[in-house]
Amino acid sequence: MVGRTNATQLEWEAQAIPWTTFLESTPPGRMSPVESVIEVDGPFLNVSTPDIRQFCDYPSCQCEQLFRYDGIRLPISIGKKADYLLTYICRACGVSRRAIKVHIETHSLLGIQKAMKY
Ligand SMILES: [Zn+2]
Repeated sequence: MVGRTNATQLEWEAQAIPWTTFLESTPPGRMSPVESVIEVDGPFLNVSTPDIRQFCDYPSCQCEQLFRYDGIRLPISIGKKADYLLTYICRACGVSRRAIKVHIETHSLLGIQKAMKY
């Protein structure tokens, strides 16, 4: 990143949060260091789409529930920037949906990536 010293970059990366935590609770508009973003599927690399906990406001739920990913696989490339739309559906009621828009910048397969909701 322009203007950052290596030491600052390392400090920033040391604050990396798990991808699941990022999806669940990081507010939009903040670039965050994240880990476990990439899911390896044989020769393919995809955006990891773990279950996430969200409040479900459907009448039969009205509480925090597990949501599962409900979309197609999202290919991801190392060293690229891209935007993704992750669609989730409540496991309990099967009705309530969440759409999470994320910008992801990948740097290496196993390292820390950058991500921001928008
Ligand atoms: Zn629900």
